[in-house]
Parts: sequence; C-alpha cells; structure tokens
Amino acid sequence: MRCPYCGSDNSRVVDSRDVNNGVRRRRQCLGCSSRFTTYERVMPASLFVIKKDRRREEFNKEKLLTGIRKACEKRPLPAGAVDRLADDIEAELYQMGKAEVASTALGDMVMNKLKELDNIAYIRFASVYRDFADITDLKQEVDTLVSAGTSSYSDGQLSLLPEERSGVVAGGRRRRQR
Ligand SMILES: [Zn+2]
Repeated sequence: MRCPYCGSDNSRVVDSRDVNNGVRRRRQCLGCSSRFTTYERVMPASLFVIKKDRRREEFNKEKLLTGIRKACEKRPLPAGAVDRLADDIEAELYQMGKAEVASTALGDMVMNKLKELDNIAYIRFASVYRDFADITDLKQEVDTLVSAGTSSYSDGQLSLLPEERSGVVAGGRRRRQR
C-alpha cells in the first residue's frame, strides 16, 4: 500500500476495525510518518448502473471520467483533481457493496463532489445531467450557489458586488441633483 504523501510502500497498521462488512485500517508511513486510512472489502463481481429507462449497463469508470472531464474543461483545478474525484466515486460505489446503482444516484454523487470542487463545473454537469426544465431552474441553482458563497469563484463574485452597487447609487444621486 503506497503512502499517498511520499509514495513509500512501507507502512505499519496502527489501528484496524471492522466496518460495514469490510476492514478499515489506519496506517502510518515508515518513510515520512504520515498517517492514512485504507479500506479492504470484498468486491462484487461487477457493478451495474441502472439507467432511467431501466436498462442495465456495467459500470464504466472511463465513461464517468469523460463526463467529469467535459464539465471541468478549462477550469483552474489542481492537477489530478478530476481523476481523484472519479477514484473517490468508484471507491464509494464499491464501499456500498451493492451489485447495482441507479444512474440518478451516481449522478447525484458526481454533482455533490463537483459542487465542492468548482461551481462552474458543477453547473455544467448539472445542466447536462439534470436536464433542467428551463432556464429559470438553472438560474435558481446558480443563485443558490452564489448566495452560499462556498467557493473561490463565488468569493470573487461577492467582492465585486459592493463596488458595483456604490457605482449605481452615486450615479443615481448625481442624476437627481441636476
Ligand atoms: Zn510517506
């Protein structure tokens, strides 16, 4: 098991416990002393995604990656963020220990993670995946994100607002004085 910090493959188990029919191990790297967690589980023979039209399709990580990459295109994300996101989702899917997952549940997992990562990528993915009925729904989603102000993107937006507002007020006063 490689250390995620330094890549050393020497680690010792400092804690081990049974969780949801698997084993969770807390490890310490013998190279850099960092601690990390591993999970060991029996993998289902294969995992199927149930589509909206009830067709079953074998889970395909490449397909998942393509969808996420498209949403994240040209966004200023840290290197490897997209692959990590797909890895996390794959791990979560297998941790659920089910043989099937609904495509809607899978889509929600992706959306939740993209929301934490990048608002624009999230909106792009959601607009394709969720099939927003009309532009009002999409706008509502954007407004919710901006008012939540959870990412650097919305921080940037918010810092612009006071300047814009004061400009409008000043302009209005001048006009009234004339
Ligand atoms: Zn290490």
